[in-house]
Amino acid sequence: MSKEQQSGKRSIKIVDPPPGYQGEGFFLTTLDKVVGLARKNSIWPLPFATSCCGIEFMATMASHYDLARFGSERLSFSPRQADLLMVMGTIAKKMGPILKQVYEQMAEPKWVMAVGACASSGGIFDTYSVLQGIDQIIPVDVYVPGCPPRPEQIIDGILKIQELVQNEPLRRRYSPQYKALLQRYGIQTVEAN
Ligand code: SF4
Repeated sequence: MSKEQQSGKRSIKIVDPPPGYQGEGFFLTTLDKVVGLARKNSIWPLPFATSCCGIEFMATMASHYDLARFGSERLSFSPRQADLLMVMGTIAKKMGPILKQVYEQMAEPKWVMAVGACASSGGIFDTYSVLQGIDQIIPVDVYVPGCPPRPEQIIDGILKIQELVQNEPLRRRYSPQYKALLQRYGIQTVEAN
């Protein structure tokens, strides 16, 4: 038992405040920095796991690596309550439309991580039946290399996603560049009110 446990005291890590100005009794920052901070530390992943890389993800979730430390312990098996689509494993071409449908059902803002060689590029399966990378059907934000990647690599990918989430401008999803990106994949975009 650690000294902390013996004494009954527990240290709770609190994230740093966003950049801003502070003085006695006030703290001033911008809305997008506050929203970015909140989103970054509460990313709900949707694990789309089809084969061996999914086992590494299970290890990443378990007590030793403990993805909960990053605020991502709440897995969402419903696309409508998920922020991050994590694709892990070999994706057959037949499964492509299903993966795309899951992506389309997720609400904006959403991010995608290709975990492992298969999801990123087809991996060792250079065959007629395997999709040679999920970025052929949906846009990908972060690629995690490896066959399989170790949990440390998956966590590194999560940290990269957190960086993107924290720094994303609030209006990015309505920008012409983002619309053009989705149009290249034949995906409808939402209009700003
Ligand atoms: S990248 Fe390797 S470990 Fe991951 S799903 Fe493909 S074959 Fe399995």
